[in-house]
Amino acid sequence: KKRNPGEVEFHQAVEEVLQSLEPVIAKHPEFVESGLLERFVEPERQIMFRVPWLDDNGKTQVNRGFRVQFNSAIGPYKGGLRFHPSVYLGIIKFLGFEQILKNSLTGLPIGGGKGGSDFNPKGKSDNEIMKFCQSFMTELYRHIGHDLDVPAGDIGVGAREIGYLFGQYKRVKNAYEGGVLTGKGLTYGGSLARKQATGFGVIYFTNEMLKEHGLSYEGKTVVISGSGNVAIYACEKAQSLGAKVVAMCDSTGYIYDKDGIKLDTVKRIKEVERKRISEYVKDHPEAEYHDGQKGIWTIKCDVALPCATQNDIDVKEAQQLIDNGVTALGEGANMPCTNEAVNLFLDNKILVAPAKAANAGGVATSALEMSQNSMRLSWTFEEVDEKLHGIMVNIFKAAKDAAKEYGMEGNYVAGANIAGFLKVADAMMAQGLV
Ligand code: NDP
Repeated sequence: KKRNPGEVEFHQAVEEVLQSLEPVIAKHPEFVESGLLERFVEPERQIMFRVPWLDDNGKTQVNRGFRVQFNSAIGPYKGGLRFHPSVYLGIIKFLGFEQILKNSLTGLPIGGGKGGSDFNPKGKSDNEIMKFCQSFMTELYRHIGHDLDVPAGDIGVGAREIGYLFGQYKRVKNAYEGGVLTGKGLTYGGSLARKQATGFGVIYFTNEMLKEHGLSYEGKTVVISGSGNVAIYACEKAQSLGAKVVAMCDSTGYIYDKDGIKLDTVKRIKEVERKRISEYVKDHPEAEYHDGQKGIWTIKCDVALPCATQNDIDVKEAQQLIDNGVTALGEGANMPCTNEAVNLFLDNKILVAPAKAANAGGVATSALEMSQNSMRLSWTFEEVDEKLHGIMVNIFKAAKDAAKEYGMEGNYVAGANIAGFLKVADAMMAQGLV
């Protein structure tokens, strides 16, 4: 904490991981003796830069850009870009740190990194978004590459932003390097099923977890926070497995539709019109809209899927969910629960699917996009989806087996941390003091 003052989210993420690694360290003192842990929590490289751009009124705006290249032991740095006003180094570092373990869990050769900016895309014109992305990439391009560091989307960065970023990279690099960014449009190297991958993956993983405990999504009531990329496709897949999703939200408020969310309406509002979730009740007056996003966790449900942002669920929200009889929690967002909330769920025997494992389907499919770019061919939606499904099943098995091996059967939070860590630690040991 002294070394990284003020980076509260980063401290939180590291504390959570190091705690669950205690039994691993007891078995492998060499990880401490070799200084591996100190290296593991220190990024290999972190880049911060100025992003100047002209808004539609001709006024100069200045934002700050970040790229944290955390760990390249098992492959090129890989992780998304987040554009949100709350972004600062502590957020990018927590995301980059978690990304190391997540990417390891996918079984694919990708290291961990993350980036972004405190730029707020809300309310900006397409022209302003493009100008910002071009300026951002004009600096970032010298630090990335298809064998070095491959960014993708995250909060505030979707297909539109990736398109502008890719266009500028191509222009300044004078090279068509398809695999330098993932989440690309389908006409220029994107992968089918990438858009759906994180949300679908959350449901594939949680479904394995439910099955392991004799449960299923069929007939279950589900609450999903967020209404962005992850939330929408988690909702789609949960509904296809027979679940009733009754609530979703954005940062201003939540909708409750007791008969089940009509996802086509949410997609239109969020993906096409880029408007607020409150619009939903105009089409569906039988549903309710409530201001304030946290209220969503007062709704009774069997499965809770926080898919918005970090620290969405604290002890108060966790206790509400437990009191209302929740059975399982699947983290679609990164670190959506505080450490105290996760411990409360585990103490109350609630099944918890941790973000590093449950939302790894997005980055796994990004790695599949890189493979397709290298081979210069495209797989069908079904091929990619089948591979994604297989990867999520394997991740569940890895988390389950690691938890069992270290005496914490059923604790998939610890299991995912341990399984993800062991591969990276082994590769770091093999590569010496670098
Ligand atoms: P989007 O930008 O598509 O959507 C984010 C959603 O969360 C929006 O509904 C947004 O509401 C809401 N939200 C964002 N910030 C807040 C906040 N401070 N308080 C309340 N609600 C908020 O992002 P994604 O769906 O891509 O990402 C969601 C989460 O999933 C993030 O934690 C991300 O790191 C994680 N993730 C994403 C992956 C991906 O492939 N996209 C992969 C793995 C993890 P509003 O529109 O009002 O801001």
